[in-house]
Amino acid sequence: MCEFCTKHGEGKKWYENIVNYSEEVFNQVNSKEHFKKYLSNFYHGMTHDIPLAYKWKRRIPFIYNLIVFPLVTRHMKKTHFGQIVPIEDIENILNNFSSIVRLPCICRKVTIGENKRFCFGIGLDLTDIFEDVPDFSDFDRMTIQEAKMYLKQLDEEGNTHSLWTFNTPFIAALCNCDRDCMAYRFQMKMEIGKIMWKAEYVAEMDMSLCNGCKECMKMCYFGAIKYDMKNEKCLINLKKCYGCGICRNVCNNKAIRLVERENVPQIAFDW
Ligand code: SF4
Ligand code: SF4
Ligand code: SF4
Repeated sequence: MCEFCTKHGEGKKWYENIVNYSEEVFNQVNSKEHFKKYLSNFYHGMTHDIPLAYKWKRRIPFIYNLIVFPLVTRHMKKTHFGQIVPIEDIENILNNFSSIVRLPCICRKVTIGENKRFCFGIGLDLTDIFEDVPDFSDFDRMTIQEAKMYLKQLDEEGNTHSLWTFNTPFIAALCNCDRDCMAYRFQMKMEIGKIMWKAEYVAEMDMSLCNGCKECMKMCYFGAIKYDMKNEKCLINLKKCYGCGICRNVCNNKAIRLVERENVPQIAFDW
């Protein structure tokens, strides 16, 4: 289990501890005014602060990596941190709630200029705050059953799922992302800090079932799957695998499954 499970999981995975979605924890680490201000600054952060950090990273990479990167990572762990979570765990978490709020996806507005709704407000009802923040005010409610069906569709289309804190350990967002996600770009492309942990799982492939069709490789936007010309099969790079599980959707031979990260010694502590 990762450091967040140890600190905030009470013996479970940290996102399975339902207290972390509660009003009690919200009040311990947040206030409504603070949360509203944080959301109001989201768009500016993505369009101004992140490009600025990237500019400095390119200008002085050594100093950035040595000093700024750890500071940014520490800050994000405290304020807005996410973890990839496979769909089956998401469905289990949703069973604890009666409804969910579908929100505008700020990342895609920034990266591709489109208004999509792939982001969910989960747990505590914060709609009175969303109503006051223009970037989030255009939301709609879904029942849990509707949300599960929608998430399944997003999963099959290749969106990974992640849960996010707003002042850790308070969890308030369930995101469904692809290459247009700013967190993905922040971490994987710009490499300006660590904001998103790998899942508590990793993908395992049964080579005897793989026919080398490469469909899983096309699906994995973390670059964790490669084609092995010699054996004419695909291979998973465990170090790169985020454990999202979306590659399973396209494997007709059921050659891929998720296993607990902590049971795979070479990556058990690699988040
Ligand atoms: S994290 Fe994903 S769902 Fe959430 S705002 Fe960004 S791209 Fe959209
Ligand atoms: S989708 Fe399945 S059969 Fe095709 S390359 Fe991937 S693991 Fe092999
Ligand atoms: S190989 Fe890992 S990171 Fe890539 S799609 Fe499969 S589970 Fe996700």
